[in-house]
Amino acid sequence: MNESQNRLDIDQIRIDIDHVDSEIVNLLAERKGLSLRMAHEKGRVDQPSRDQSREEDLIAKRVASGQDHDLDSGLIIQVWRAIVDDSVRVQQEALGRGADETTGVTVAIQGIEGSYSYLACQQYFGARGTEVSVVTSRTFSEAIQNVRDGRADATVLPMENTTSGAITEVYDLLLESGLHLTGDIKFKVRHCLLGVQGASIADMRKIYCHTQAVAQCSEFLATLEDCEVVHFSDTALSGKRIKDLNDPSIGAIASEEAARLFDLEVLKSGIANREENYTRFVVVASDPIDIPEGVPAKTSIVMAVSNRPGALMDALAIFSEGDINLVKLESRPILHNPREELFYVDFEGDVSEKTVDAVLSTLMKEVRFLKVLGSYPSRDLRQKPKLRTPESRQVNAREALVEPSPTTDDPKGYRLGSRGHKSSSTVVEVGGARFGGDDLVMIAGPCAVESWDQIVATAREVRDAGASVLRGGCFKPRTSPYSFQGLGLEGLDMLAEAGKTFGLPVVTEVLSPEDVDAVAKKSDILQIGTRNMQNFSLLAAVGRTHRPVLLKRGMSSSLDELLQAAEYILAEGNQQVILCERGIRTFERSTRNTLDLSAVPVLKSRTHLPVVVDPSHAAGSRDLVPPLALAAEAVGAHGIMVEIHPDPDTALSDGPQSLHFHQFEHLMGALGIPPNRRVSGG
Ligand code: PEP
Ligand code: MN
Repeated sequence: MNESQNRLDIDQIRIDIDHVDSEIVNLLAERKGLSLRMAHEKGRVDQPSRDQSREEDLIAKRVASGQDHDLDSGLIIQVWRAIVDDSVRVQQEALGRGADETTGVTVAIQGIEGSYSYLACQQYFGARGTEVSVVTSRTFSEAIQNVRDGRADATVLPMENTTSGAITEVYDLLLESGLHLTGDIKFKVRHCLLGVQGASIADMRKIYCHTQAVAQCSEFLATLEDCEVVHFSDTALSGKRIKDLNDPSIGAIASEEAARLFDLEVLKSGIANREENYTRFVVVASDPIDIPEGVPAKTSIVMAVSNRPGALMDALAIFSEGDINLVKLESRPILHNPREELFYVDFEGDVSEKTVDAVLSTLMKEVRFLKVLGSYPSRDLRQKPKLRTPESRQVNAREALVEPSPTTDDPKGYRLGSRGHKSSSTVVEVGGARFGGDDLVMIAGPCAVESWDQIVATAREVRDAGASVLRGGCFKPRTSPYSFQGLGLEGLDMLAEAGKTFGLPVVTEVLSPEDVDAVAKKSDILQIGTRNMQNFSLLAAVGRTHRPVLLKRGMSSSLDELLQAAEYILAEGNQQVILCERGIRTFERSTRNTLDLSAVPVLKSRTHLPVVVDPSHAAGSRDLVPPLALAAEAVGAHGIMVEIHPDPDTALSDGPQSLHFHQFEHLMGALGIPPNRRVSGG
């Protein structure tokens, strides 16, 4: 063989090797395609992306076929490990489970190791091949706090049980938490009666048992004679307790796993009333998750509808018109407002789907409160994967509420409050008052609540003169720290009591986010004062409540800034915002502020929210209040708020601008509002 022939052969071999290598690349690409298809299938049935025993089998088979070709086993193992690892990574990425599975996760649970929350958590994350470290927490609220404070990545909380029903405390906590649902799991609960060594059912005299388990095993417990049931906060803890007591006459109801963990005997298993005893747990984290295309998903929302016949039906009809399948509807009384209900709704689909986005947008116009708790892949759903249209947007739950929809321009930094989003005017109902309806709503009361006698006399006057809302400052935002700061919660108690006595809803200002819960407990409307219009954490906090908000315009703020401030409240879920023009700072010194009455028609053209006018804080002197109030009515205000006082000269704040009662009655007459001299009430 001559030298040139030799070189030709080498070249040819190189070409052949290149060919084989490119075949290998093609085959790897083909294999990756199959992995992706597999990921979609696994996502559809929510199977774990990793099956380590199958991976080992696969490599063993490759080693065997490699040996048939005299290939080194070490090489085959190395190559296929790399291929399999890559395939797992590709699948995890496609399923959006990467972070969980590769880095492990810290999960807060209520209870200790061995509790059902613990077992559900192990099952959920275990199925994803994720290492779990558990942070035990005494209560559900502590578990949630552990996530909020960053001590845990997620928490797993029980929502409902097939036998004993909803775990209402968790519903209430979830709404307040500001966290997002990222998954759920239906966990089969198998209650067992456990005892220490030597225990028997016949000798049982006392059983420690979680309240939920008592309800779920009531039939079995009823068969035991002479046996006391002691309620316990945690199933596993009850197991631990009887182990510590080591008394064969004391038993516990817990899982088989708890028996193993605490070295107890299973005296009887499967003691629940129903064999099919499931608890649905939700996985809750700080951030929403992205759901990969094609993975069946569920979304959970909370909403409050108007208090009128058919309001719930109208809201639900929006889902059916959008061809969206509701899978759950649960109702809970609103905290501190027990006459009204919150509805928890689960439906198929996720917020990044166009159809879901459109339905939520429409729904938001109908309801008084709407919050998306989260969208998450759901193993209960077995429907065909819905492939997203390519142009659909990937947005998270929060963005779905605030992101401009394609049909709406968003030149001014607000959307939910705009007429583009909702063309019909919003009516905010409080007690008998309808802000944004046909009638002018009158709010009146003292600048500040000063005493019981003062507020009760004023409340009577407000009711008798025909006004429909009682105002009164309890936390006063005073320019000087030496001025009267208000009576605080004590004043609020008086205001609420006076309101109740005369059948009037009340409004008071809330100054800081920490006070929002306490004020929302008693006040029918939460007022945000001019100095706080851009206190964004305060706006967000009132946006999470179910109380209507009276948002006053900042004294140096533009109308668009007012609407953007309102947007902070709307975006948190609360759709009941009433705007208030109260005068702005100009060069003019003759009045305390300059009442910008053009705000009323301008706002009404830009927003569907009701607009009221406060002439008192604009004028600064009582004689100017009636003409400005009449002007406000003339420009189309939906309501007017004035300060009145039984003895303005002795008022602790804003006396000069407060109307005497007779002046107020005169103004009411001029506005054409009839008096209401009922005999009932104080
Ligand atoms: C008030 O209405 O009590 C009040 C303090 O008003 P403003 O925030 O408009 O000054
Ligand atoms: Mn005042």
